[in-house]
Formats: sequence, C-alpha cells, structure tokens
Amino acid sequence: MQFEPLHTWLPTKNEPLIISGPCGAESLEQLLTTARQLKEIDRVALFRAGVWKPRTRPNAFEGMGEEALIWLQEVKKQYGFKITVEVANAQHTELALKYGVDVLWIGARTTVNPFSVQEIADVLKGVDVPVMVKNPIHADLQLWIGGIERVYNSGIKKIAAIHRGFHYYGKTKYRNKPMWPLPIELRTQFPDLPIIVDPSHICGNRELIPFIAQKALDLGMNGLMLESHYDPSIALSDAQQQLTPKQLNELIGKLILRQPNTGDAVVLDKLQQLRSMIDEIDDELINVLKKRNQVIEQIGSYKKEHNITIFQLERWQEILRTRAQWAEKLGISRIHIERLCQLLHDESIKIQNDVMNSRDVES
Ligand code: PEP
Ligand code: MN
Repeated sequence: MQFEPLHTWLPTKNEPLIISGPCGAESLEQLLTTARQLKEIDRVALFRAGVWKPRTRPNAFEGMGEEALIWLQEVKKQYGFKITVEVANAQHTELALKYGVDVLWIGARTTVNPFSVQEIADVLKGVDVPVMVKNPIHADLQLWIGGIERVYNSGIKKIAAIHRGFHYYGKTKYRNKPMWPLPIELRTQFPDLPIIVDPSHICGNRELIPFIAQKALDLGMNGLMLESHYDPSIALSDAQQQLTPKQLNELIGKLILRQPNTGDAVVLDKLQQLRSMIDEIDDELINVLKKRNQVIEQIGSYKKEHNITIFQLERWQEILRTRAQWAEKLGISRIHIERLCQLLHDESIKIQNDVMNSRDVES
C-alpha cells in the first residue's frame, strides 16, 4: 500500500496537526458555540463530531443522526472548518457523502467487524474522500491493518490510522491502554501511513491527556484528535474526557514539538557517538547470549544423560525472582526483566529439546 501524505489532504498552518470538536453533535447551538471558540484559538485543522454514537448500553445518547449533518454544514459555512464524522455502516457513509462531510472516520467498534468495514468500503468505490481508521477495540494489529486494506482496496489513498488505545481486562489507569508497541509496529510496516493519536479515548479523563499527547509527539506520531465541548460538564457523552477550547489551547501551548531529524552537525555527531556505543553494547550482549546458549546445551546433554526433565518449575521461579531483584537494584524495570527472562527461558527450553531429540553420534 502507498498512501498520500497527510498534508496533501489535510493542510494546516499549525503544528502539531489537531482534530477537535465534541464527542457527539448534540444541538446546533452546542456545535456553533464550540466551533466559534475553536475558531478563536486557531489551532484546529479538522472539526470532529459524532453523529451516530456507538454506545455500550442502550438508552444512552446515541447521536442525532441526519439532522446533525445539516448542523455540521452550518459549522462549515460559518467558520470554514473541514468536517469529519464517524461512519459505521453503508447508510451512514451515503448520508455523510450526501451532506458533504470532508473526511470520514471508522470507529473502534466498527473496525472489529470486517463485514461492516467492507460495506463502508463498497460505498466508497470511486469516491475521493479521505478516511481515518481507528484501531479495533482489542489489541489486534492484523484487524487494524485489514480495515485499512479494505478501505485502500476501494481506491482510497488518503488514509490515516487513529490510535485510540486498546481494551485491557487488567488494572490500568487508562480507559483504553495505549500499548505503544502496536502503533510503532504499524509505523514500521507502513512508514508512509499517517498515524493520529486520540488521547481523549485513551485516557477517558482529562487529567491524563497532556501526558499521552506529549508521548504521541515524542514518538513521532502525525497529529492528535482531542474531544472538546464549550461546556464538558453538560456533554451527553464522554463528559470526563472533553476539554473546553480554552483548555485545549493551553494544552497545545505546552506541548514540545519534536522533529524526526536535525540538520545540526554537532547534534548529529553526538548522536552518532552514542549510537556507536549502543552498537558495541549490543555486540557484547549477543556474545554473552552465545555463551549462555552453550552452557544451556551442556545442561541439556547432562539432563539427557541422567534422565531429568527439561522444564524445572522451581528453577524457573527462582530465575524469575532473582533476576527481577538484581535488576531492580540497578533501577531496571521489573516488567522489562521478566519479559526478557521469559524470552530467554523459551529459547532455553527449545535448545534443550533439540539436545534431547538429537541422536548420539558416537554411540
Ligand atoms: C469517538 O471518537 O467519539 C468514538 C466513539 O471513538 P472510539 O471509536 O475510539 O471509541
Ligand atoms: Mn467520544
């Protein structure tokens, strides 16, 4: 897949690129007031509003539907904003196109369902409209890529991914855990696919938003989608995570912009020195791993000779416990070491298995 650069279909004079507007379009007055205040802060490249709201439980605010598309035309007319709305099926898509919505987005609950994404993609055949694809609710990168491919196969090259975090069953302070390795893997596989981060839906409350917004920029993500409402306390959905346009302005003002590269020779030189150090350390690490694997082979042969099982639960528990303790003393994160131990242990089992299954050549 080859994508069109973001600035060709979403031009902005401001950095970082900001998409903002309320979670849901509630009334003409709410949209116009929010849009007027957003116009005043002059940071926003695209005005968002949910017209059909996918809600977890029935009887919650499910959006105002087609009527809200007429209000959004008014926002466009009065304040000159380009508009984006969420579409979840063919009918939404047809209506959004009919009312001149500039950019469509596919929500997390829709990306999980290839039938729905395909239905939307079919309506989009031959239509030149940019589409943003949110990640599916759960951490499935293939499903996210699959959604993007379905849109792409309908002929659309103006595509962005939106990272809105992932459902997590364990304890987390986020509404949706960021799990940064996933968007980073997406970037690795599709370097020219723009990725926009949605701190509002990752955080679920406005206190955490600055941290995630900064992290997105630190990682070189291409823009931010942030929900805003002229008075979040009366919002009909996602009240905890919406910002007033004034708060949005303050937040963006405090963000530190980072460049993917620098032309400064001194900085580049210093970076190069540090990278050479990392190269040497990695070389040492690989040599140490080689030594470790050789000892494991010996352990494997010895266990084979004496009919001892490969997996030893107590030894494994001891390894996990002691390495975590050693690492913590040095200020290395326990989780990091536990993950590393897991990888080493998997490899150790594999090596010993190979030793056990190899025939003795001498005998
Ligand atoms: C939204 O953007 O308002 C929304 C419903 O988001 P998500 O699909 O990420 O839950
Ligand atoms: Mn929302």
